[in-house]
Amino acid sequence: PNSKAGDGKPRLLLMGQRRSGKSSISSVVFHKLPPSETLYLETTTRIKKESMHSFMDFQVWDFPGHLDYFDPAFDVDNIFEEIGALIWVIDAQDEYLEAIMRLNTTILNLQHSYPNINVEVFVHKVDGLSEDYKGDTFRDIIQRVQDELSDHGYENAPVSFYQTSIYDHSIFEAFSKVIQKLIPQLPTLEALLNSLCSTCKIEKAYLFDIMSKIYIATDTSPTDIGSYEICSDYIDVVIDVSEIYGWDRPAENGNAEVVENGNNDAESLITMEKKGNNYLYLREINKYLALICLMGDDSPAEKKAVVDYNVGVFQDALKQVFPRAERDLPVIQTS
Ligand code: GDP
Repeated sequence: PNSKAGDGKPRLLLMGQRRSGKSSISSVVFHKLPPSETLYLETTTRIKKESMHSFMDFQVWDFPGHLDYFDPAFDVDNIFEEIGALIWVIDAQDEYLEAIMRLNTTILNLQHSYPNINVEVFVHKVDGLSEDYKGDTFRDIIQRVQDELSDHGYENAPVSFYQTSIYDHSIFEAFSKVIQKLIPQLPTLEALLNSLCSTCKIEKAYLFDIMSKIYIATDTSPTDIGSYEICSDYIDVVIDVSEIYGWDRPAENGNAEVVENGNNDAESLITMEKKGNNYLYLREINKYLALICLMGDDSPAEKKAVVDYNVGVFQDALKQVFPRAERDLPVIQTS
């Protein structure tokens, strides 16, 4: 197992060349910076370890030209022993041959010593590209990496590719897929969510990392980006994210407008609202996670008691899946 982090959080490392977009990605996803403001960010200059109030642990590393991280002087074990996924950011709007060369070197090195680390390639800044050019670039990058790997006999290296941009939800979608691979309990979570959905006629249910709005699991019905957006926006409406920093909130929650009845667990927020033709239901699961469900308008608010009950069952089942106390973290093993 390569997650020795002790705290059980999936650990991600973000790498890529200068100006590829690493600081922007971490600011938008983990600090809620509006994408347009990344124009004024300082570029990543060195290794930046950030501690996040999140389900996952996340570090951003620059790849400065002068730093050879496979140099023996550099503590490679310390870097790679604890991570589950290496996210490699490539600027698709820029010359990328050099970036691919470095990526290939990195993958080959990892295959040698840490073959279990997932390499997740974010072909990034695709918002600026025409559909055709975007597709060609994506295929070209995949081809160049795969050719190099098969030349070295690594056809089955765990390398995946995503098209991302901070200007839409694609960056969150990509992160969600990256994270889900690091959660061994995912099939169980999906089965629990499926069963919740069919019992309560829920259209779509997401288990969200509240801070980042990355979903760590969803039911297995087809996902469309629209329902993701609705549910992720609802987090902003309902949860004051700044409160997460002081999650041990008192039992009498000041936010009386949105907190409805049926809250057995004094510390977790539960709410349901009509939004357009849908009902949205949110329940905090623990310090980091919230369950958000989207229901059609054939699920009138009177059904809330049924949903409350079944979500309670779901939450109990989740405690079995993640046996460390409910307020604590799920246990993650990567590999
Ligand atoms: P870093 O050196 O890898 O940390 O790169 P930065 O995060 O500093 O980003 C460099 C530039 O890329 C900034 O001006 C960002 O605004 C821009 N950028 C980052 N992500 C995107 C994206 O998805 N689309 C576009 N068009 N620009 C982006």
